[in-house]
Amino acid sequence: MVAALIKAEGLTRIYEMRRGLFGKVTPVRAVDDLSLKVLPGETLGVVGESGSGKSTLGRMLLGIDPAESGTVTFEDKPMPAFGTAEWRALRVRMQLVYQDPLAALDRRLTIATQIREPLDIHNLLTKDERDARVQALMAAVGLRPDQADRYPHELSGGQRQRAVIARALASRPRLIVCDEPVSALDVSIQAQVVNMLRDLQDEFQIAMVFISHDLKVVRNIADRVVVMYLGRIVEEASSDVIFASPRHPYTQALVSSVPVPGQPLKGRMILQGEPPNPASRPSGCAFHPRCPLATDICRTTVPMLRTVGLQRAAACHLVEGANAPIAA
Ligand code: SF4
Repeated sequence: MVAALIKAEGLTRIYEMRRGLFGKVTPVRAVDDLSLKVLPGETLGVVGESGSGKSTLGRMLLGIDPAESGTVTFEDKPMPAFGTAEWRALRVRMQLVYQDPLAALDRRLTIATQIREPLDIHNLLTKDERDARVQALMAAVGLRPDQADRYPHELSGGQRQRAVIARALASRPRLIVCDEPVSALDVSIQAQVVNMLRDLQDEFQIAMVFISHDLKVVRNIADRVVVMYLGRIVEEASSDVIFASPRHPYTQALVSSVPVPGQPLKGRMILQGEPPNPASRPSGCAFHPRCPLATDICRTTVPMLRTVGLQRAAACHLVEGANAPIAA
């Protein structure tokens, strides 16, 4: 069995949220007792509505957001504390790509300078080797040589995101966490950037955590998918299994809204009720106020994430064939 590149066990992140200027402080469990692993070279899709904890999870995997409890191990070693010399050294091997490339880039620096920045900061390679790597990365992400000396505002949104991805690849990381990397781009550009990411991942053998609310995009890139609802995983399986036969009612609703090329959208399940509010988690199964199948037990008892058959795990009282709770 292949050893996990990164592994999270029992991760919990609690924020304090104040309602109004003088209101009561409410603890919000953004990520709640969550376990997962990512194998070398694998793409794990993380999906769920806004407020499900996806982005917090991504930052926790990189050690940027601290955990109240639980652990992250990278290459079998515990994640060092944020900001320490050990953590900064490890960041060479783990990179983050955000949604907004303009915010991620420094407006005062040229594109080439920013792509080579990780090599300069961590003192990797000789000067000539750095120049050669920047040129190679620009070619790999589809940027022209004459764009090396441009500034971020002189590029289109898609070109800026290509530059951000080139910078993330500069230090040859083993893991990239992509947080909604294409959701700010035009639909026509999204497909180009996703295809490019997939090609680069194959070429550089990088594991990727791909966070998105857009299941169309995730279906095109992920090997495996975890579905999050209010800080917890409610279903986990290979991408093929999730999209062909979702079992959790929440996953079924999400998947039913994804168009299949060349086929009319049929059997769409419209999610009822408000999107989840992390500050007021419902009792029992957190999805029960919106679930068309909810029964009495759903209102009182939290369903554990359990293996179902050989290919998936789901957290639902009504999913048949659930076995013991799973461990990451
Ligand atoms: Fe619906 Fe109950 Fe399953 Fe939750 S546990 S998804 S409320 S059927």
